[in-house]
Amino acid sequence: MGLLEVLSRIEAAAKRAGRDPSDVRLVAVTKGRSLDEIHDKVLRYGDFPLGENRVQEARVKMAAWPEREWHFIGPLQRNKVRYLRPFRLIHSVDSLKLARALAARAAGEGYRPRILLEVNVGREPQKHGLDPSEVDEAVGAVREMGSLELSGLMTLAPLVEDPEQVRGIFRELALMAAKHGLQELSMGMSGDYEVAVEEGATLVRVGRALFEE
Ligand SMILES: *Cc1c(COP(=O)(O)O)cnc(C)c1O
Repeated sequence: MGLLEVLSRIEAAAKRAGRDPSDVRLVAVTKGRSLDEIHDKVLRYGDFPLGENRVQEARVKMAAWPEREWHFIGPLQRNKVRYLRPFRLIHSVDSLKLARALAARAAGEGYRPRILLEVNVGREPQKHGLDPSEVDEAVGAVREMGSLELSGLMTLAPLVEDPEQVRGIFRELALMAAKHGLQELSMGMSGDYEVAVEEGATLVRVGRALFEE
């Protein structure tokens, strides 16, 4: 499909929902892609944030391009929090334990990471994220940790044939964010980003649609 097509679909989806397209940012998911591919398929069109889901792989790419805006979107173990400082946004804080570990590390280093809390809205057993019933408590607890900047919520919707099937998931996440006055909503991937934008996504994490024909 390619990046320009994805951008025009994001714009159309935003307009359908009466939203300003400039309120939606495309995060190019670059996991498994080489620097050449990332240059050719993403960066020649503009300075988009780049999303990686593995710390080791990300560290190699970030060393090559430290000036880019990198986001972390993958599962995290507590022993990896020491590597997170260079990321502009961490989408995937999926437990209070992880939030506490990151807060402690950040306080020690004197910086304030921007994070999103990941919610397993579809309650899929194999997925990471807070149960929806835990969100109120987690938001309150993270806000009390002065060393984290809580910007919003993130979810990974179940994989389905028809993206209309996950509209309700996105809508639920948007309601949770609104309830807590949280601005950022990271939701939508190659298969479902248009529906996510219609439901209020401010960050869509798209990989395959940018890189595969
Ligand atoms: C890989 C990945 C994406 C992008 O998925 P595509 O289907 O390639 O668009 C988005 N979010 C997360 C957390 C991912 O791991």
